[in-house]
Amino acid sequence: SYDEFYIKSVVRAIPDWPEAGVIFRDVTPVFKDPRAMRMVCDAFIQRYMRTGITHIASVDARGFLLGSVVAYQLNLPLVLIRKKGKLPGTTLSREYQLEYGKAAIEMQTDALEPGNRVVIFDDLIATGGTLLAAISLIHELGAEVEEVAALIDLPDLEGSQRIQDSGIPVHALLAYE
Ligand code: IMP
Repeated sequence: SYDEFYIKSVVRAIPDWPEAGVIFRDVTPVFKDPRAMRMVCDAFIQRYMRTGITHIASVDARGFLLGSVVAYQLNLPLVLIRKKGKLPGTTLSREYQLEYGKAAIEMQTDALEPGNRVVIFDDLIATGGTLLAAISLIHELGAEVEEVAALIDLPDLEGSQRIQDSGIPVHALLAYE
């Protein structure tokens, strides 16, 4: 059964990575631990079962690993939000700020259409910049974002608050202050 403390014990803290003063939350051990992975995915599957959601969107790259399991189990279409330059065909792009410099994510224009009700998956919410860009892309395609789902929230960075302030609910399984 679901055990938040067990999942928390599996996530690894890497001090001073990628730079001094940052504690990086490494979720790789969750993917390596079937018990933790099953708890995490089952919690999301329970939450989104019979909710009227029509699509799972997942963010490159660790969001893919969660979103694809949930989409498979709920028998829902999976759409990809990828880093710039990875998707063929006609795409939409959004730039967003990183701490130093900027990044861009893309979706194919035929990924979603008006009337679709989407949950977006990523592994972790820090400043919220990635997910706010993802929300903006999905809205440009005319679809609704029902919720943003993540394994981890870092509330001190206020990303989940920014997303909620934009009107989109946030569901994270774990928080690290
Ligand atoms: P944000 O755009 O600032 O919210 O950063 C979130 C994105 O950066 C997610 O796609 C995460 O995969 C990645 N990220 C930022 N900080 C961490 C961390 O401590 N552990 C794992 N991924 C992180």
